Amino acid sequence: MLDKVVIANRGEIALRILRACKELGIKTVAVHSTADRDLKHVLLADETICIGKPSALESYLDIPRIIAAAEVTDAVAIHPGYGFLAENADFADQVEQSGFIFIGPTGDTIRIMGDKVEAIKAMRKAGVPCVPGSDGPLTDDNERNLQIAKRIGYPVIIKAAGGGGGRGMRVVRDDEELIDSIALTQSEAQQFFGNPVVYMEKFLENPRHIEVQVLADGQGNAIHLGERDCSMQRRHQKVVEEAPAPGITEEMRKFIGERCTRACIDINYRGAGTFEFLYENGEFYFIEMNTRIQVEHPVTEMVTGVDLIKEQLKIAAGQPLSLTQDDIVIRGHAIECRINAEDPVSFIPSPGKITRFHPAGGLGVRWDSHIYADYSVPPYYDSMIGKLITYGENRDIAIVRARIALDELVIDGIKTNIPLHKEILADENFQNGGTNIHYLEKKLGLQ
Ligand code: ADP
Repeated sequence: MLDKVVIANRGEIALRILRACKELGIKTVAVHSTADRDLKHVLLADETICIGKPSALESYLDIPRIIAAAEVTDAVAIHPGYGFLAENADFADQVEQSGFIFIGPTGDTIRIMGDKVEAIKAMRKAGVPCVPGSDGPLTDDNERNLQIAKRIGYPVIIKAAGGGGGRGMRVVRDDEELIDSIALTQSEAQQFFGNPVVYMEKFLENPRHIEVQVLADGQGNAIHLGERDCSMQRRHQKVVEEAPAPGITEEMRKFIGERCTRACIDINYRGAGTFEFLYENGEFYFIEMNTRIQVEHPVTEMVTGVDLIKEQLKIAAGQPLSLTQDDIVIRGHAIECRINAEDPVSFIPSPGKITRFHPAGGLGVRWDSHIYADYSVPPYYDSMIGKLITYGENRDIAIVRARIALDELVIDGIKTNIPLHKEILADENFQNGGTNIHYLEKKLGLQ
């Protein structure tokens, strides 16, 4: 097993990684900014190193300082968590070149999956279903682009190959708009992502977001752990997630899961990963792969009983996967509510001191969070302060437990989106299951 790991992240995921390390007897190093001295995992880690100022650019995104922290503490590996440097191929390369283990895939894999045109190419080759599209970058040949749009059929979406965070895409509904839209998206792509390459896809009007969790050891073994439904979104940000996805049969799960595992073996994937799909009219359409652990991983853990972070650590230590596909049985249902420090109506972040705190508890309730009474939520980072996950033997029970838990959870002193979650869980259409990615914004009157 790994001897000592640097946790290159903050907040709830840093604490989550710390817990998994402790279970495996791995020593931990917390690197943190000056604003994060009081973070829960910093207080619990074996060693701590302050790596810079509050601004993420001067701390959590500062590659040399993080690698230096690994050097001075004699750590052997670095866990990037999610966000920050988790999908930065150069970081993964530099970590390995400096003699440490990057807990994730190789820099080359991250680079391929970070280029959506390349990722789609790899997925098509592996038999993963993709959105009908341009099969590669668009050129300056207007005639050809009009032909591609005609073949796909309007509406289409122009997307930046290097895009991320829901930026760098534009929906086009007819020939008139097409040429200008391509040029505009190209110049935005250059400006935002330093890469002007764009491609075209069929625009799906009312899809759901369904994603498949995988684990692969980079030694020829890969398994999938079923799917999650993350359709409840606002501005492409997931708000509520669940596993399994309502209405997905064992047969469909097997169909899409097998293709994802085959793709992992094809690209020699290593670590935990997620294949994201849009799902419409019974069909899956690959949109991108996330080459890291995701925020919503706990719902998969609850229905499979597999500790995904521990598996990441074991894979990084060079162990072959100990689980086989037959070991993965989906049992019951889990729901996750992302609790944010923000105004539940305006969504404006609400950092500050938590004056009173009481977590929810009881059978089937999991609270993944670093907060405590008197903790001050700093204004510099993402507003997510915790994840409330509930499990039940079926979806109805998971929902009831989530509603009870939301009533129990007390976070005073700052505003949170707990009222929004209560509203979502009381919503009849959510309760019926299978709402699409536009549902929440429409319900909130934002669309
Ligand atoms: P990003 O990396 O920026 O998150 P994605 O490719 O994952 O980009 O797409 C983000 C979101 O944009 C999707 O969740 C979906 O809401 C929308 N989207 C992307 N491609 C399509 C498409 N072909 N049809 C409809 N919506 C799409």
